[in-house]
Amino acid sequence: MAQISPQPGIMDIALYQAGESRIEGQAEVLKLSANENPFGCSPKASAAVAASISELHRYPNVDHRSLRAAIAEIHGLDPARIVLGVGSDETIDKLCQAYAGPGLEVMHTQHGFAMYRISALSHGATPVEVPEKDRRVDVDAILAHLTPLTRLVFIANPANPTATFLDIAELTRLADGLPPECLLVLDGAYAEFAPGYDGGAALVDSRDNIVMTRTFSKAYGLGGLRVGYGYGPAHVTEVLNRIRAPFNLSVPALQGAEAAMADQEWVQTCLEVNAQERQRLTGGLIQLGLGCDDSFANFVLARFADADTASAADAFLKSRGIIVRHPKSYGFPDALRITVGRPEDNTRVLQALADFQGAA
Ligand SMILES: *Cc1c(COP(=O)(O)O)cnc(C)c1O
Repeated sequence: MAQISPQPGIMDIALYQAGESRIEGQAEVLKLSANENPFGCSPKASAAVAASISELHRYPNVDHRSLRAAIAEIHGLDPARIVLGVGSDETIDKLCQAYAGPGLEVMHTQHGFAMYRISALSHGATPVEVPEKDRRVDVDAILAHLTPLTRLVFIANPANPTATFLDIAELTRLADGLPPECLLVLDGAYAEFAPGYDGGAALVDSRDNIVMTRTFSKAYGLGGLRVGYGYGPAHVTEVLNRIRAPFNLSVPALQGAEAAMADQEWVQTCLEVNAQERQRLTGGLIQLGLGCDDSFANFVLARFADADTASAADAFLKSRGIIVRHPKSYGFPDALRITVGRPEDNTRVLQALADFQGAA
């Protein structure tokens, strides 16, 4: 018997599964498994990262003032209430550390992002899974599952892996139904892809118990740099600033993200292509007889007849050098999540799936 044992809950964590990036025996692969920007990041961001190497012997600044100001200016936020993290994953984790813990509950939805459960368990809290309805977050189900022990409710909007969306009226109804001791976290990892959506920023400003998380990993194409942030009421951001590592963001991360935020023209171009292409991909999948909801993100969820067919389609795509995500652990054994790629990538995916369906 080992004398050294981790805190309760930690061994219940299943290791995080990232989108695959390799196929045995294939050198060139088309990776559409992690919702990355197929065009990469802004050239100005990579130039800023390259320029930062002359400063690598210096500690980064602790208050992140310059990057917070850049984010605040673009999004019309109060810079004092932005807290930067090593990806939004860090903000999710710090929220669980600060507000949940043994004996308290953290709510997430049936097909919700894996990090909510992982972070809840790693801080000894109890994750509570609530059903979704037709692959959408169900506000009534969340409200029905609240208990006096619920401290955090996490929803991703647009959601991953479903790509579905709740409008502001539904979010407001959810916010109105929560007790004051319960914090609602609106994970806006894909907010940029939903036309006209502010990620919930205005809702955050109107309440005391809502936090929005955002990231540079998706629309900004900087998943490898690890930068995200939370935006919330001052009483929450003051807590998060106390428990985050003071030097959590590196010099390249701070400088690269700031240059990326400043280059809105580049982001807008990527978003326009994504909007056209996700529609073409969705239409193409439906024409092939597959199920596919309208996407509000940079990926689509293609639904097959059953789990075996989805596995066979996954294998077929791999044989063509295409890696997508089989989201079994998200409750979709019968579906494949496909990141919207460049136009030529999407043509390749649709052609491969047409061949798969034709051969079936
Ligand atoms: C990709 C993703 C994130 C972003 O994680 P980072 O740590 O910012 O890279 C957060 N939430 C959801 C739902 C995601 O899909």
